[in-house]
Amino acid sequence: MCGGAWHNVGLASSVCVFCFMTPLTELAQGQQYPAAALYVVATPIGNVADITVRALYVLGLVDRIAAEDTRNTGQLLARYGISKPLIALHQHNESAAAQRVIEHLQAGERVACVSDAGTPGISDPGAKLVDAVREAGYPVIPVPGASALATALSAAGDWVATFSFIGFLPPKAKQRATALAELAAHPHALVFYEAPHRIVETVEALVEAFGGNRRLLIARELTKLHESLHRCTLAEGPTWLAADPNRQRGEFVVVVEGAPREASGETDHDALLGILMEEMSVSSAAKVAAAITGASRNALYTRALALKKD
Ligand code: SAM
Repeated sequence: MCGGAWHNVGLASSVCVFCFMTPLTELAQGQQYPAAALYVVATPIGNVADITVRALYVLGLVDRIAAEDTRNTGQLLARYGISKPLIALHQHNESAAAQRVIEHLQAGERVACVSDAGTPGISDPGAKLVDAVREAGYPVIPVPGASALATALSAAGDWVATFSFIGFLPPKAKQRATALAELAAHPHALVFYEAPHRIVETVEALVEAFGGNRRLLIARELTKLHESLHRCTLAEGPTWLAADPNRQRGEFVVVVEGAPREASGETDHDALLGILMEEMSVSSAAKVAAAITGASRNALYTRALALKKD
């Protein structure tokens, strides 16, 4: 037993693997950790080593932890030698569980919130809890760390300098196509999350909605053994995925380049569609305008319908 700072904050392990980090622990201790506060703590998205010193310090310090899946979190905490009472807080019980958390805050406890992977509240439970806790008058303190979003973007390149995070698209084809049509003229890169059983149809839907020219990044299994980051055009995406079934396995972040400048200039499109619709049907006008401008046919069709209605 080292008797060091980690043990002072409740680490259960008798062999302290963090002793060599003592100076870092002291830095973590330098921050304020008020009682009766919620700590939103990021955990790894794959590699268990991707946890911050401060996250470990806070997880060791708090009185209990609200977790998306208590079994998963229990196992993760065990890897770090931490053992704490856990509260289940997932998408089906978040409001009720938030009330339980608030009762513990009322009793003066420090409570942490973690999700299964990455940052809580990013396509994960946590956001409703944050709202409820703040509404109840208690502080919410973020403890940053891994997120698949930032991890993929960090290795994407300059073309994602500005971006919008979309997360998961609707699973049904029609709703997904509508959501994508609304995004077709968006000038910033778009970041999507996707599961393995839908990656192929999602990339195909992106090609359908945005055309084949834009840049695409398929970031798979980030920080894990089979991590891969593949950059290609949207048109090349489906072929690349089909070439090897392994490329369709695992967890995905999909990043698509924003609409080209001329495609986001809706006024030009409006003028073109207006001229074309004098001579032909809405769908033919959208088809011809797509061929001329390189913009998405679906987006132009949606726009043409709106212009016609006006
Ligand atoms: N809260 C998490 C975060 O901060 O990134 C996201 C949780 S969301 C339920 C899970 C989705 O995140 C996965 O379906 C995948 O799209 C993405 N994701 C999580 N871990 C990933 C990884 N290691 N590699 C690629 N994508 C990942």
